[in-house]
Amino acid sequence: MNNLILDFEQAKSKHLLFKSRLRSILYDIDVDETPVLSHYECSVGKWIYGHALQAYGHIPEMYELERVHAEIHTSAKRLVALHKSGKTIEAKNGLSEMEAIADQLLGLLSTIEQKIQENILQPSVTTDMDIKLDEYFDLIRLNAELDKRIKHQIAENNRSAHQFETVLSALNEGITIHDANGTIQTANKSAALLLGMSIDEMKEVTSLFSRWDAIAEDGKAIPPAEHPPMLALKTRLPQINKIMGIRRPDGSLIWLQVNAQLLIDQENGELTGIVSSFFDVTSTRKATNDLKESEKRFRLLAEATPQMIFTANPLGDADYFNPQWLNFTGLKTEELVKWGWQKTIHPDDIRSTLDQYKFIRTSGDGGEFENRYQRADGQYRWHLNRMLPIKNEQAEVQLWIGTATDINDLKQLQDQKDDFISIASHELKTPITSLKASLQLLNKIKDNPSSKMLPILIEQANKSLDKVNALVKDLLNASRFNQGHLHLNKSKFIISKLIENCCNHVRLAGIYTIKTTGDMNIQVYADADRIEQVLINFVTNAIKYAPSSKEILIEIKKTNDIVKVSVSDKGPGIPKEKLSFLFDRYYRVDTNGIQYSGLGLGLYICSEIIKKHDGQIGVTSQLGNGSTFWFSLPLNS
Ligand code: ADP
Repeated sequence: MNNLILDFEQAKSKHLLFKSRLRSILYDIDVDETPVLSHYECSVGKWIYGHALQAYGHIPEMYELERVHAEIHTSAKRLVALHKSGKTIEAKNGLSEMEAIADQLLGLLSTIEQKIQENILQPSVTTDMDIKLDEYFDLIRLNAELDKRIKHQIAENNRSAHQFETVLSALNEGITIHDANGTIQTANKSAALLLGMSIDEMKEVTSLFSRWDAIAEDGKAIPPAEHPPMLALKTRLPQINKIMGIRRPDGSLIWLQVNAQLLIDQENGELTGIVSSFFDVTSTRKATNDLKESEKRFRLLAEATPQMIFTANPLGDADYFNPQWLNFTGLKTEELVKWGWQKTIHPDDIRSTLDQYKFIRTSGDGGEFENRYQRADGQYRWHLNRMLPIKNEQAEVQLWIGTATDINDLKQLQDQKDDFISIASHELKTPITSLKASLQLLNKIKDNPSSKMLPILIEQANKSLDKVNALVKDLLNASRFNQGHLHLNKSKFIISKLIENCCNHVRLAGIYTIKTTGDMNIQVYADADRIEQVLINFVTNAIKYAPSSKEILIEIKKTNDIVKVSVSDKGPGIPKEKLSFLFDRYYRVDTNGIQYSGLGLGLYICSEIIKKHDGQIGVTSQLGNGSTFWFSLPLNS
């Protein structure tokens, strides 16, 4: 190798040394930075300014070489500055750009060398720039170290890139990574599957140009610019748990829950893109919708049914009361929920209600109990409560459904029936006992037909028998009428005549006077026996329940096509709140049966008879001021 070649080869080596130094700085290897930062201090610089410009200045490219060399150092300084300010990636990326300029330098060195060789002039070479042995070693060491680091870095990068890819493809969630314009750069397999396009088809696509028709939960279209990734870009705010329906290219609809997170450059804080993740919520949504639908149906049903319904959680906290419950109690839902409903329970029933409520809940099987709830008007009414558990597949109670049925009337009827049986037995027992006594006495005197007692006892026995007969007749009538077996045998008759005849026995007894006034000639078309039965009942009641009122007034009054007959006494009267029940079966104002005998059937029978005649029956009464029982009959029937 001649000196000229050696000169240029040394220059190239020195350039290589510069490059190694720069790369070392950028890869954090400790080296002297001065030769990199100053183009005068660098070995190549020293060679150019101390020797080459003088020796080869006649070659024009020599000046180009000087310019490119200075440019290399300007570029190197910039990269070192970037690296030092923490922008290491940007600095490393700039390295390749700088290498391109450095290649120019090598090219220029070769050109100059070639021109000198072709030139007749003998170049003056220098031996000053002999590259020193330790610099060579330095160079070799640096390069080896660098190679190691670069290989390691490349392997690291590959590994994390691979890991990233693996994680992406393993995710069930669909992932799309968008650039700052919203264009999809990367997508994983799940995204392709969910959105119905291949990964390649999805790349370079934005929501704006996509083939996906998106709809919101209310069915309205979501414009492409408002898809979560695009919205995140526009607003610079992450979009969290957005539900959207996507019509896939094949026409099928899928519901996605979408998140769109911002990708921010950590070095300069700029928004560089969006990561969007989404998963299929079609079946969950369907289940939720189905649940909502069945809840809606339950509510409709609960609102339509006349029964009172409530629901409670497994702990027994009530959370729903249907409108019937609210109407009955006159309270608002807020006042009844949790344990608020307790305040509507009759104080005597609270303990048993809570015990049974707890027992049913802990048994988990449902059950029934009776208690009294207070109505809005203050009245307590008996209810039959039924509780039914709704269980999940694991047989765990999810919800309790409770119903309360008003059984107050039924209960009252039951009580009345019990009362009635005891009264009826008592009523029958009295005449039967006296009949028995009469018969026993008759038995004693049977051998003495001339005894004075004989006719008296026979009359007594007959009276007792009449009473039994009347009672049995009432009972039979009541049950027959109740079954609708009341047949009328109608005829025309003058009503005042009927009154006169039927009350004769009372008049004859002389204790009570009966005064009949009004339209004495009115003729009716009715069942005379039955109407007589009604009148006798009114009159005997007046005698029975108003014994001190010696005068009974009967008034016959015609208005239009109706005749009204009223029977009034001046007795104690009847409490106002009892009036509406008087014509009910078994109803007696004095229910303990001590003061007055009776089955509570008389007025019920009267009302059935009058109803059968298409007439009306009623009572007006004032406590202490007597009572007036009346009935009316249509005249043109
Ligand atoms: P009963 O057959 O037991 O007499 P009713 O059906 O005839 O029963 O009468 C029902 C109730 O109406 C009686 O228990 C009585 O208390 C009341 N009542 C009926 N008439 C009169 C009246 N004139 N004055 C006061 N109370 C009466």
